[in-house]
Amino acid sequence: MPMKVGVARESAAGERRVALVPEALGKLTAAGLEILVEAGAGAGAAIPDQAFTDAGAKVVSTDELYAASDVILRVQKPVGPEVAKLRSGQAVIGLLSPLLDPTLMQALATAGVTAVSLDAIPRTLSRAQTMDALSSQANVGGYKAVLIAANTYGRYFPLLTTAAGTAKPANVLILGIGVAGLQAIGTARRLGAVVAAYDVRPETAEQAESLGAKFVKLKTSIDATGAGGYARELTAEERSSQQAELDEVIANQDVIITTAQVPGRKPPVLVTADAVRGMRSGSVIVDMAASALGGNCELSKSGQTVTTDNGVTIVAPENLPASLPTSASQFYAKNISELLKSMVKDGSLHLDFEEEVTRATVITHGGAVVSEPVKKLLAPAGGNA
Ligand code: NAD
Repeated sequence: MPMKVGVARESAAGERRVALVPEALGKLTAAGLEILVEAGAGAGAAIPDQAFTDAGAKVVSTDELYAASDVILRVQKPVGPEVAKLRSGQAVIGLLSPLLDPTLMQALATAGVTAVSLDAIPRTLSRAQTMDALSSQANVGGYKAVLIAANTYGRYFPLLTTAAGTAKPANVLILGIGVAGLQAIGTARRLGAVVAAYDVRPETAEQAESLGAKFVKLKTSIDATGAGGYARELTAEERSSQQAELDEVIANQDVIITTAQVPGRKPPVLVTADAVRGMRSGSVIVDMAASALGGNCELSKSGQTVTTDNGVTIVAPENLPASLPTSASQFYAKNISELLKSMVKDGSLHLDFEEEVTRATVITHGGAVVSEPVKKLLAPAGGNA
């Protein structure tokens, strides 16, 4: 019997993405897999059930999906009733955030469910680039952040000369030049803005400049390149010298998009309340790093748009990729299909723990949590487990 792969309907509030799109089905069926799709799974991304049927999938009820699937593909981690429906021997693959929710991983392990998380893919491994959902979704986010900024800003982005007068181009500053920041630079440039960008990893200067942004070089030179291509947290001294210089740059901007993250830490504050007070009325900040943990702007409120007394609007969107659901799903589908295919041998799931991607992404298997970082989080403080 061919292995059955189920595509779940997402249930998180505001989530409009779906884990597979019809165009991605061909390669999976060619690998000997049968695809089941929960009715309505693509609705948020404007993909009707019929499109999945036409591409060779079987559309099924929620109960049938959970009962019949050997592997369930999803975008976000399963919630309460979905967790209860998963059964021993079944696998679930998605952006499961195992480090943020180790308790769920323990529950899946206890239930005998194999959990595979796309956010644990080793990002510097070139062979895994096609599976890198963090990058594909950050890319969507960087693009959409600029569109939101342009939509919120009360003036033009490009230089415009017309019979009715001339519009000055907007000055846009991108803070954090990772995947999202690079896409934000490209998008803001395409809209005609004058773009500057800043990061604590010096190698990003050339990347920003190649996309047409001016790299902001502070007098105090900081190299905070950390492990795996990420940044490390700044020391208190580095932070204060960075802040003083950044405040001056910030005061001259019309639009700021912030994307700075440090793995496993709260996002660094790069735009303080004081810096916002120094900005002109009508300026816009889009804080892509904002979450319940805080953001890159001291005044951001996750999921909300606030306007300060001095007329600066601060937007802190919660799930930007879900606001471009069809494209985000198309790229995500490629990522998850590639990961799944790498784990299928002779039409069934075959986990080879000698293989780097499998070792990194399989979080629970055989009734236990197998991921070392998650095991560490679950170990009682001071214990050796
Ligand atoms: P991220 O989301 O962790 O952070 C975004 C950016 O914020 C980073 O560029 C980081 O340097 C910057 N940042 C952190 N603290 C800062 C501060 N105090 N001030 C200013 N900027 C700050 O990063 P990401 O987009 O996930 O990318 C992380 C790295 O992974 C990058 O080096 C990227 O090129 C790399 N990457 C590599 C591959 C690959 O080789 N296959 C694929 C994807 C990403």
